[in-house]
Amino acid sequence: MSDINELRNKMDEVTLKMIELLKTRTEIAKEIGEVKKNIGKVVTDEAREKSLREKVISFCSNIGMDEAIATKFLNFLLNESVKVQSSNKQTHLSIFLKAKEMEEQGKKIIHMEVGEPDFLPPKIVKDALEKVFEKGFLKYGQAKGMPAFREALAKYASKKFNASIQQENIIVSPGARFSIFTAITTLLNPGDEMIVIEPAWPAYKDCALNSGIKVRTISTTFEDKWDPSIEQIKDTINSNTKMIVLNYPNNPTGKILDEKLQDEIIVLARKNSLYVLSDEIYSQYAKSNWKSILGYNYEKSIVIQSFSKSHAMTGFRVGYGIADSRIIEKMAGLEALCLTSVSEPIQYIAMKALEADISNNSNTVQNRLDMLAQKATEMGLDFVIPDGAMYLFARVNQEGFDGVQFANSALEKGLAVAPGEGFGDYKNFIRLSACQNEKTLIEGMNILGDIMSEGQ
Ligand code: PMP
Repeated sequence: MSDINELRNKMDEVTLKMIELLKTRTEIAKEIGEVKKNIGKVVTDEAREKSLREKVISFCSNIGMDEAIATKFLNFLLNESVKVQSSNKQTHLSIFLKAKEMEEQGKKIIHMEVGEPDFLPPKIVKDALEKVFEKGFLKYGQAKGMPAFREALAKYASKKFNASIQQENIIVSPGARFSIFTAITTLLNPGDEMIVIEPAWPAYKDCALNSGIKVRTISTTFEDKWDPSIEQIKDTINSNTKMIVLNYPNNPTGKILDEKLQDEIIVLARKNSLYVLSDEIYSQYAKSNWKSILGYNYEKSIVIQSFSKSHAMTGFRVGYGIADSRIIEKMAGLEALCLTSVSEPIQYIAMKALEADISNNSNTVQNRLDMLAQKATEMGLDFVIPDGAMYLFARVNQEGFDGVQFANSALEKGLAVAPGEGFGDYKNFIRLSACQNEKTLIEGMNILGDIMSEGQ
């Protein structure tokens, strides 16, 4: 009995010591965060993390400690540092909110920061809105979604993406965002690692951080036309790696991966038994050849789709995930816990929206992107011509250019753009959305041109 008490006392002592060390570590992380801010460095530094990881692994072998546990603990510590350093990060969302505030005060703002189509949902949606009450879709339902809607989605997606999808492979969620959250949160455990290829929509990283999952970033470059290298991905994979996130057509670059490279990534994922979370919400706006990850029939893939962009239904908050039924069950467990189910009237309306011809939306966005690209070329911006999506990710070639500062000062001139830094280490980039009519976009590009010539 006294033995156990002694051991427990020792255990308490060690725990308190570890907590004291954690406090010291967090304080140092804060200080580093301040320095990074002052010298204009982003929070994530893969090379630095790699060197610390190597030190930890070699230390483990010296002291005879299980490397797998130690690296999971390291991932927890690294995430804590990211959290304390990430306050006040400016993204397209913060610029959007600031723009909205300025509009409240009567200022006119051209919105080229936000990814929200300005056109209306299909006409059939208006009819469905009127009819849903008498149709009686008004109750609680299954977390995975209404059977009739899931059946309709399975048929729609099988045809559209040339795959064989059943109702059991579908989960309906309030927007793509929630399916992304449930997939990351239910399939991965704290300390696991997830690969994100940047530039990337920031929510993948934020979801992971929220769930104690470590993000390993692969930074791609304008010079390499936003292609990740397969070697880079291979080098990042270790025993803790559980998922790779793909998003093509990509937000913000509009990139679509070459089929061969995509094939290689899936081979690598299979070999290492990684989940592939493929966010395909911009597939309706693919200009060049694009192949859904569904085409690989990989049992660990989760494909994410949404009505937000394809059907201009952002405010309806409805999307869906497509995966093996066991994965769907896991995601549904969390969805049931958080929401019970997606609003039934909205599911009915989205089901009707599937009947609409949305090819016009694609033409509209493509024409606008072409126009934006032409204007941007005339203005001397550097960008890779987008293969799809709704954006132009452009580099501004000016000494000391800072996208965040630029986005804030452009707001004063009545133009909202998204700073590149919201998508990774891309300080000298801005993202321009093709989500306004051509006249408004030209007006916006003219304001941009004026600001750029002032800065020279
Ligand atoms: N994925 C990407 C790549 C996005 O850009 C967005 C929204 N901008 C979403 C998901 C979220 O879409 P939803 O409105 O369906 O939640």
